[in-house]
Amino acid sequence: MALEADIKAQLAQYLQMMEGDILLKVSAGDDKVSREVLDLVDELATMSSHIKVENVKLDRTPSFSVNRIGEDTGVTFAGVPLGHEFTSLVLALLQVSGRAPKVDQKIIDQVKNIKGEYHFESYISLTCHNCPDVVQALNIMSVLNPNITHTMIDGGAFKDEVEAKNILAVPTVFLNGESFGSGRMSIEEILGKMGSEASASEFNEKDPFDVLVVGGGPAGASAAIYSARKGIRTGIVAERFGGQVMDTLGIENFISVKYTEGPKLVASLEEHVKEYGVDVMNLQRAKRLEKKDLIELELENGAVLKSKTVILSTGARWRNIGVPGEAEFKNKGVAYCVHCDGPLFEGKDVAVVGGGNSGIEAAIDLAGIVKHVTVLEFMPELKADSVLQERLYSLPNVTVLKNVQTKEITGTDKVDGISYVDRETGEEKHIELAGVFVQIGLVPNTDWLGDTIERSRFGEIVVDKHGATNIPGVFAAGDCTDSVYKQIIISMGSGATAALGAFDYLIRN
Ligand SMILES: Cc1cc2nc3c(=O)[nH]c(=O)nc-3n(C[C@H](O)[C@H](O)[C@H](O)COP(=O)(O)OP(=O)(O)OC[C@H]3O[C@@H](n4cnc5c(N)ncnc54)[C@H](O)[C@@H]3O)c2cc1C
Repeated sequence: MALEADIKAQLAQYLQMMEGDILLKVSAGDDKVSREVLDLVDELATMSSHIKVENVKLDRTPSFSVNRIGEDTGVTFAGVPLGHEFTSLVLALLQVSGRAPKVDQKIIDQVKNIKGEYHFESYISLTCHNCPDVVQALNIMSVLNPNITHTMIDGGAFKDEVEAKNILAVPTVFLNGESFGSGRMSIEEILGKMGSEASASEFNEKDPFDVLVVGGGPAGASAAIYSARKGIRTGIVAERFGGQVMDTLGIENFISVKYTEGPKLVASLEEHVKEYGVDVMNLQRAKRLEKKDLIELELENGAVLKSKTVILSTGARWRNIGVPGEAEFKNKGVAYCVHCDGPLFEGKDVAVVGGGNSGIEAAIDLAGIVKHVTVLEFMPELKADSVLQERLYSLPNVTVLKNVQTKEITGTDKVDGISYVDRETGEEKHIELAGVFVQIGLVPNTDWLGDTIERSRFGEIVVDKHGATNIPGVFAAGDCTDSVYKQIIISMGSGATAALGAFDYLIRN
């Protein structure tokens, strides 16, 4: 398998940045993927004098490990790390060669101090845009700490293993043979899961903020930047910095940028926020807000932060159908991300619940991969744009069921079907299938606020034109508010409004 010219050109540039020699240990057989792996490592070796290759027998064939000369690092790729994993391969080559990973020194120290043996295995698909973050984080940990190893396993090349382990969502990570987690995880999240999170006392000791932003999506990032630029003490608490943008593949409507990708935009947002010395408290979930002399924000870890003003920008999350089997079979056939998990259902039958734009886009995508897609829409008509509907109806392997109510997702250890009621006849029916993709919109992340803040009947925080809520000093922005449209640029605009509103409030009080 020869690398495509543009990939080769990019690689050549990156390989010039290698700082020392590395040894690729390759385990290959006679199969097609083995030949591709051999071609890839041979091609790499011809492109840089720093790269040596040795044939060995590793735990999985085909696979190859990336090592320093005379020292195994534990970074292994099982399958061919191209597609979305191309960057993971490049970074592994550079980091093993001696180039420092781009992570905070605090994180590097945390990883280096981990004691005990940790063997990670991550199952990925080459079309999954959430997977590289996990692969790259685990690779960095392996490079930094000799007690940590990580093998990336392409589910497409190791189908039997994926079936045997019942893996129906990627990335899925195992640690020392036991299930560790699934979905996108940053290095901080992985460290948190391994039990080395920051303690509550670190937060309790913080001085009160002028503006404390809750939520690190586009609304929160914008609110924090606008506040900090006023020279006032600004903090940001986020369960996961980046919010929904982290789950977004292509973005074509972020004005002035023709095309970008979610994680790339999030990296720029984070860099911009940090530029102004904002105190970023990532991976921290707020659980209670109370207005006293100052506004108090309690975190899940028990710490209480204090601030003169608060900007709520906790965004939204996927809406669940709320039927039996949905929670039970999450990641065992119930999925929300088509780009990530679609390839795991290749050649199988699946359903998409939801006939809006996202549901129909998902069904069109899936139809190109799976055997058959059934779309279930509650209303008598699909709500998606007509151009999407036309495309959908032109596909040979799609069935659309309208005016039906999903009743149950069935299965034993994984999904084996879906039951629904025909709302016109009342007849209950069951379809046998392997996966259900839920695409029925979003709900605001506001349940944790209790009755303190006025909200709409959809749970959205009611704000005025200054971004102010009913509680003096508490402002809100983005998808968690009652703004009519939910988009990145709109969230950023409302984040700026809320920050200026909060600054105005501070001046007057
Ligand atoms: C798949 C997908 C594709 C999309 N594509 C586009 C697109 O192409 N263009 C576009 O303009 N828009 C797109 N959107 C919509 C866009 O992503 C959202 O409108 C935008 O992200 C909303 O920003 P936000 O900051 O209000 O909320 P979010 O992005 O949802 O961020 C919320 C933040 O709050 C944090 N949080 C939540 N609860 C708590 C808590 N209790 N404590 C602490 N932190 C908390 C979250 O971790 C996160 O950091 C897409 C959305 C999705 C899901």
